[in-house]
Amino acid sequence: MMRMTVLASGSKGNSTVISSSRTRVLVDAGLSCRELLRRMALAGEDPSALDAILITHEHIDHVAGLAVLARKLRIPVFFTEPTHRAWVRMLTPRTTMSYAKWLDQLQREKEARAAAVALETANQLCAVAEEPALRSDDPNPLLELPIEAEPCDAESVETLPAAAKADPTFLPAVEYFRAGTSFSIGDLDIMPFTIPHDAADPCGFVFEAEGVRMALATDLGYMPPNVKQAIARSDVLLLESNHDLEMLRDGPYPWSVKQRVLSRVGHLSNSATAEYLSRDYDGGAAYIVLGHLSESNNVPELARLAAEQAIGDRMTLLGNKILLASQTVPLEPICL
Ligand SMILES: [Zn+2]
Ligand SMILES: [Zn+2]
Repeated sequence: MMRMTVLASGSKGNSTVISSSRTRVLVDAGLSCRELLRRMALAGEDPSALDAILITHEHIDHVAGLAVLARKLRIPVFFTEPTHRAWVRMLTPRTTMSYAKWLDQLQREKEARAAAVALETANQLCAVAEEPALRSDDPNPLLELPIEAEPCDAESVETLPAAAKADPTFLPAVEYFRAGTSFSIGDLDIMPFTIPHDAADPCGFVFEAEGVRMALATDLGYMPPNVKQAIARSDVLLLESNHDLEMLRDGPYPWSVKQRVLSRVGHLSNSATAEYLSRDYDGGAAYIVLGHLSESNNVPELARLAAEQAIGDRMTLLGNKILLASQTVPLEPICL
């Protein structure tokens, strides 16, 4: 038996539980930890039974509650290495400065260097008369070294968990996978595949256990051949149907954001999804779940209508049932 429970889907947060009879994983953690736990309770999913969290990409609507949830449940997080790095960069505070401020800082550094050289020269002149003493403080601020953050004795090793927890990127365990290379967690076979999206190394997943296949493909600008191939023969297909083209064009987003959504690394429109369903889809899924619907540029009924028209008479009681994943409430668990 396999089960898919979509806890949330959309630009304000994404998270889905995938279970086999022995293994349970969470794909993305794009809501707060508290909200994820609340939705799992609502959907009848036990958080303490989760074995791992898998991340598709580092956009905030996929990772918002990640660190807190992983620490609370003490479970490993699976990323690709570039996604993990991008996530760490995202959470690491950086000082940004204007060009004028940078020039100003450069000038101050130059002056400090000149002052240090002047002081050094003066010291050398004095040293003719006396033995030079070792200076414990260096007058050149450029030579200041950062304070050692790593533990260097037994006592600080003992305090490491507390120190690590203060780090926003601390996770109980991190495992890397690569798109295109399958791996397993318990009895779940997982095939990650690359998707075209503006993130470091975004991917979708196909999960398989006991002869059932469930695929997740959201956040993709278009349907490349590798995605079509990866999600073929799925029994449950969570597929993006992000926006209605006319609503997006006439909608409230600034021009640059519209261009991003429409681009080859943006999101799938209702019509792009419909085109896939009518031309390339093999028709073999029991359920097609439409997800990542835009709240500003789509309405569920338009997404449903486009998909239903594309599926046409292949929609039956047993096959190609179309469901709509919601941003605000968990979807009824899909069991096969
Ligand atoms: Zn997203
Ligand atoms: Zn994204």
